Amino acid sequence: MRVGFIGLGHMGGAMASNIRAAGYELVAYDVADAAVEPLVAAGATRAASPAALAESVDVVVTMLPGPLQVRAVMTGPDGVLEHLPSGATWIDMSTSSPGLGRELATTTARLGLGQLDAPVSGMAKGAKAGTLQIFVGGDEARYLAHRSLLETMGDPERIFHVGPIGAGHTVKLLLNLLWFDHAVAAAEAFVMGRLAGIDLGVLQRSLVASPANSHFIEHDINSVFEGDYDESFAMRLVCKDLGLAVDMGRDLGVPVEMAALVEQIHRRALATYGPEGGEMLAVKLLEDLTNTPLRRAVG
Ligand code: NAD
Repeated sequence: MRVGFIGLGHMGGAMASNIRAAGYELVAYDVADAAVEPLVAAGATRAASPAALAESVDVVVTMLPGPLQVRAVMTGPDGVLEHLPSGATWIDMSTSSPGLGRELATTTARLGLGQLDAPVSGMAKGAKAGTLQIFVGGDEARYLAHRSLLETMGDPERIFHVGPIGAGHTVKLLLNLLWFDHAVAAAEAFVMGRLAGIDLGVLQRSLVASPANSHFIEHDINSVFEGDYDESFAMRLVCKDLGLAVDMGRDLGVPVEMAALVEQIHRRALATYGPEGGEMLAVKLLEDLTNTPLRRAVG
């Protein structure tokens, strides 16, 4: 199976490198030439354009910032879809829009192509380690035919087929929405605890042992305690994900008042700290507003 990979940023660079390390022939493309270099050094072929890449592969994986870039790369006369050989498969691993996935499914069906959405969770460190969680939407037989490729990037125990085209994107957007809800809620609890004179370690241990525990409180906040807000997931992408989740609420006719507020808090963090700032900067917003840094030695 010859694999094309488009979008070699924080996540895609490491994911493509794991595909290559597993022995697949790899053709790579990114608008940023420098992003392709490490893969060429590992034996991959550089493609001159998305269309040229498409002509020479059986599978195309995209790991692009979001729906705008996915549409630009995949559609139109110079897009990937019009240049893939019939029978080939497109796997979109970006966090993107379920609606766009379903819209493009009419084009892939017309062209005799397969399509899966397979967005991931697990941060840049999970991409490097090849232990990502993957949520797959699309035809089950097509998913099973590509499972061994997905296993080069993800933890086999946590690769789930979750429904038809668009379902992977839907689950991923809901996951991110809840995680960022938790981050904002945890910021309020920890800033108040600190101002009330509770030791941060004592507070964390107490909450972890309680029904109010969350993955954020147990694990992710440790990086905030060390002053690291995780720049490997940029705030511009966080705001894109939260915007897509709010769009989904609108499309489904569900009032998502908390999601809208959490999106606005993250947009304020983006305006304050910039688009490349780290994903947990909503916590810093409250730390800065109240002059209450959340710092403690984590061991
Ligand atoms: P990134 O911005 O680091 O990488 C995106 C890459 O796509 C860049 O190398 C960029 O040059 C390239 N690109 C942009 N437009 C392009 C185009 N038109 N043609 C070709 N290449 C193009 O983003 P990332 O952090 O790697 O995230 C990628 C996707 O994965 C996003 O959808 C993000 O939401 C999702 N995601 C990120 C993380 C994380 O922790 N960073 C975790 C899970 C999911």
